Amino acid sequence: MELELNGEPRSVYACACNECQRCTGTAFAYRAIYPETAIIRRRGDTKAWRRTGTSGRWLEQHFCTDCGTVVFMSAEALAGAISVSAGCFGEADFPPPRMLHWPERMHHWLCLEDIATATPASA
Ligand SMILES: [Zn+2]
Repeated sequence: MELELNGEPRSVYACACNECQRCTGTAFAYRAIYPETAIIRRRGDTKAWRRTGTSGRWLEQHFCTDCGTVVFMSAEALAGAISVSAGCFGEADFPPPRMLHWPERMHHWLCLEDIATATPASA
């Protein structure tokens, strides 16, 4: 699945919650939020898997039906926007995360102290 976006992300964050660890298969998620209007082109299919976040609101992980990569997420708390997996851009100079959700769940070896911590509202 390919997603082409226009413009800069509204925000870039990391999340170390257990669900993001499970979703990515690693220690944290690195994502960028874009308004849905930033989507220029979408090619290929995704399948969505819905779960309930710790806030009680729903989140959907949209993964590529060919390779299984979670390309983006949508959420009840994120009306009109999507959260795109930053690794999908394949750009080493992509903006770094400016927020860290769920720092208390972070693996102890991780060094993300420079990232401001945020409330777990969107996790
Ligand atoms: Zn999370």
